[in-house]
Amino acid sequence: LILLLRGDIFKLSLFEGIMNRFSFFDRENTINELKSNEFDLLVVGGGITGAGIALDAASRGMTVALVEKNDFASGTSSKSTKLIHGGLRYLKQFDFWLVKEVGMERAIVHKLAPHLVVPEKMILPLVEGGTYGSWLTSVGLKVYDVLAAVEGEDKRKMLSQNEALKKEPLLPKNILKGAGYYAEYRTDDARLTLELIKTALDYDAKPINYAEVLEFLYEEKRIAGATVKDNLSNTIFNIKSKYVINATGPWVDSLRLKNQINTNKKLRLSKGVHLVVNYDKLPVKQSVYFDVPDGRMMFAIPRGKSTYFGTTDTNYQGNKNEVKTDLVDAMYLIAAVNNMFPDVLISIDDIKSSWAGLRPLIHEEGKPASELSRKDEIFVAKSELISIAGGKLTGYRKMAERIVDLVAKKHFRQFSKEFKKTQTEHIMLSGAKFEDFDDVKSYINLIYKRIFKDKFNEKDAQYLVYNYGKQTDIILKKYNELEKGTPQEKMIKAEVWYTIHYEMTCSLTDFFIRRTGRAYFNIESVYENLTLVLIEFAKHLSWKKEVLNRKKEELNKALELITTFN
Ligand code: FAD
Repeated sequence: LILLLRGDIFKLSLFEGIMNRFSFFDRENTINELKSNEFDLLVVGGGITGAGIALDAASRGMTVALVEKNDFASGTSSKSTKLIHGGLRYLKQFDFWLVKEVGMERAIVHKLAPHLVVPEKMILPLVEGGTYGSWLTSVGLKVYDVLAAVEGEDKRKMLSQNEALKKEPLLPKNILKGAGYYAEYRTDDARLTLELIKTALDYDAKPINYAEVLEFLYEEKRIAGATVKDNLSNTIFNIKSKYVINATGPWVDSLRLKNQINTNKKLRLSKGVHLVVNYDKLPVKQSVYFDVPDGRMMFAIPRGKSTYFGTTDTNYQGNKNEVKTDLVDAMYLIAAVNNMFPDVLISIDDIKSSWAGLRPLIHEEGKPASELSRKDEIFVAKSELISIAGGKLTGYRKMAERIVDLVAKKHFRQFSKEFKKTQTEHIMLSGAKFEDFDDVKSYINLIYKRIFKDKFNEKDAQYLVYNYGKQTDIILKKYNELEKGTPQEKMIKAEVWYTIHYEMTCSLTDFFIRRTGRAYFNIESVYENLTLVLIEFAKHLSWKKEVLNRKKEELNKALELITTFN
């Protein structure tokens, strides 16, 4: 039987083909390559914007370096609502162009990573005294469908009160008038960012995390690269590049200042908070997009063993490196959920985890944060530093196309070198070799039925596949090789091993927050496995006691940030 099972995994591995190794142990090599070559493009910032640009540029034939001062996706790109969505509420702001672009992108990004961008039905309850009436919702959702060219089963439906309650029994019967029912996609923002970066490796891009731009290099006042500090070894080196993109999200203005750009502040930062409870506490059957009494809208989204809800939208001027959920944020969100779902009574003690992120929005005089447009904008300085800000996770591909088009044009003018047009619509992301979503479901079933039975449950199989896609094969192969420990212990050991060797994981926070999402969606599993994971890291990365204590402290601080509110 064991041979048979191993055979299955082996077959799957063959189907997948050769995997990228993107290992912690390659850091030194990568740094040497960064030091010794001149690149066409240096991308600063390893969030979704930088990752998308790196893949677009590298796949068109540019030589590309990418540096991220912390871990990949450690900024806003691990703290979004984690939806690939068209932005229904932007219709209210008459942002038709944005809704059309991101709406159309949803289906494309789903096709590029069917395990990571998965269909999610959304219910929009219509309640007495709510923001939208039935007619306006029906027309709004219709416009949404038309703009995004939505087809077939995914087209919006309007539901009666009874139909709405059947779909979501937790909705408030007394004031419910009906609902809109439409289709979006959910994702894991940090993993989407990481898979883009790993895919860029196929085109010889050189990305590295924990590498921070300290200042820029110039040749005759024109930007020509950057001085970078490796934050793990504290060494400083230069990267030479013909063009430099500032894709640092909330830090865009800070980097522009390093370039001594003499313009007014361009960004307005708006804080958005999400809270997580055990699924049993808010057992919604699908995602709900609902009214808050103050006129805003919020999401409640089921995910594995949890449900999360958010978000707030408030001006922010504090420390960008340590954004916290305040008690006021938490109480606001809890009150909104208790108001829409009267049968659940969530209290602050039910909150298991949270995250708080910053929207890097383009400033417009006199507008509150929630009314600022989410569209992106490109600023080119006299020194030719190119900055990009604003935008959505969902629109990363088009943002990348626009900026790389600009770089390609400049390249041609200055160096007479020509590059291909964007290719990314056809580049499947790393681990995403599935025909479609049904194929993803069959793969989950295969793992559950043939390999997992009696040891794990179906949600564990879903967790692995939604996280790693076909790369789950490599983890399962490692799992089979491990001899010591319970099945659960062997599985997490295999995950640690995989993320260190294939995903440039450098610390416990990388693993628990951004590679696996456990700190947000299964925090109990972090506490349960902490010692085991610590030992595995120490073993693989040869951590001495002092490093081990530092890394543990760093994790404790990160966990405190997401679990305490004051
Ligand atoms: P970031 O992800 O912040 O990346 C910038 C990176 O630059 C950071 O990792 C930072 O460490 C790095 N950096 C900074 N300075 C330096 C330096 N000197 N050297 C090297 N690196 C540096 N969009 C959607 O499509 N769907 C959603 O559901 C959604 N929900 C959202 C909910 C909230 C609460 C928020 C805040 C945003 C949401 N968005 C959503 C928008 C989306 O998350 C952002 O537009 C996107 O993540 C921004 O990505 P970025 O790469 O531009 O910035």
